Amino acid sequence: MKVPRAQQKALARSRVKILLAKAVETAKEDPELAQRQAAIARRIILRYNIRLPYSEKRLFCHGCKRLLIPGVNARVRLGHRPKAVKITCLECGHVYRKMMSPRNGTVAAAEQR
Ligand SMILES: [Zn+2]
Repeated sequence: MKVPRAQQKALARSRVKILLAKAVETAKEDPELAQRQAAIARRIILRYNIRLPYSEKRLFCHGCKRLLIPGVNARVRLGHRPKAVKITCLECGHVYRKMMSPRNGTVAAAEQR
């Protein structure tokens, strides 16, 4: 019996959620295990074409696609002019900038090499 695609996606989404939660939990004690859990989660995301919310999307480096945990292998700084949250990957040096709009307080993503 074939499982409907929507059901497969829902199952995949719940598995990704569990894997990422575990990866964040274990990142400090066992970084290698956390990286592996994140890599499996990423493979599921790519296979089932799942979109992550920002809170989970920022866990992956846009350069090397590894798991980013602030204080372990990522640096988070607030920049001004332009106002932005800068997330630096300490594995590959890639800087991700999340722009903060001064007028209405909304955020728009931007990337810088
Ligand atoms: Zn990186």
